[in-house]
Amino acid sequence: MVLPDGASSPDILISECGPRDGLQILSQIMPTEAKKRWIAALHAAGLREIEVCSFVPAKLMPQMADAAEIVAFASTLPGLTVLALVPNLRGAEAALAAGAHKLTIPVSGSEEHSLANVRRTRAEMVEEVRRIVDYRNAHAPHVPVEANISVAFGCTIAGPVSEDEVTRLCVSLVEAGVDDSGLSDTTGMGNPVQVKRLFTRVIGEIGEKIGAAHMHNTRGLGLANVLAAYEAGVRIFDSSHAGLGGCPHAPGASGNVVTEDLVFMFEAMGVKTGVDAASLVRSRAILSETLPGAELYGMLAGAGLPKGYRPASPGVMHGQP
Ligand code: ZN
Repeated sequence: MVLPDGASSPDILISECGPRDGLQILSQIMPTEAKKRWIAALHAAGLREIEVCSFVPAKLMPQMADAAEIVAFASTLPGLTVLALVPNLRGAEAALAAGAHKLTIPVSGSEEHSLANVRRTRAEMVEEVRRIVDYRNAHAPHVPVEANISVAFGCTIAGPVSEDEVTRLCVSLVEAGVDDSGLSDTTGMGNPVQVKRLFTRVIGEIGEKIGAAHMHNTRGLGLANVLAAYEAGVRIFDSSHAGLGGCPHAPGASGNVVTEDLVFMFEAMGVKTGVDAASLVRSRAILSETLPGAELYGMLAGAGLPKGYRPASPGVMHGQP
């Protein structure tokens, strides 16, 4: 993680997932040109990894029909890792052909969720991940592949999810060749004690191969869970600009952890993110313009940065000049 302006490296990596996780849940489709403006603004705020799309059939998810064009555009932004979600080998082939810099594969933590979501058992998904890794090794060995465990902290179908099984699944994915494996609280069911316990345990098994904490704010515990994961040793965090997104199983529930609030929390703690929270607050205007009626979340946007606030990241210009 090196910032192009010569500022010192951030302490954590924030992986912005709004253009994928945020948009896929909305009924309206953000126009391609608006997506490009938005992604450019996220990059300008200092974000250096953005999950820009998913490679799924346009018939199933018309919001992502322009995935290849979006990857091509995002690849022009200097220093940006262009991350694409792929649910299977076919998606991985398309993402690599489009020039994605990194792939992320969701694997369900519960058997019920896996069968309902992708009509595959978890063991079958691990085999699919192995096929994707083999394909990557043959065609794009420089592209990292990560696999994140969905519903790792609770499942809307199965309820509680076994920590033994989640831990074993992470180990299987690393054995299948992924570069890292993280944990997702897809449905916002986790709590900080649980998050710290499970990440600590998984890190004990896979060490530096630990990937992102992907927390949803469905029940208001998103940032608390992020902090718990940080204390367990996690240094990659997924979040979404304006908390865009939601949960298909919980109508009215808010979406991902809000990027600008997360940046504020870490910078105020003295943890360098390399990201300018004030710039993110300003660029929420792109979302209100291009996604009329979509609900935007977050506390910082309403309250503003507090008096005397000093960001931890050198070179990040907060507030107005
Ligand atoms: Zn999510």
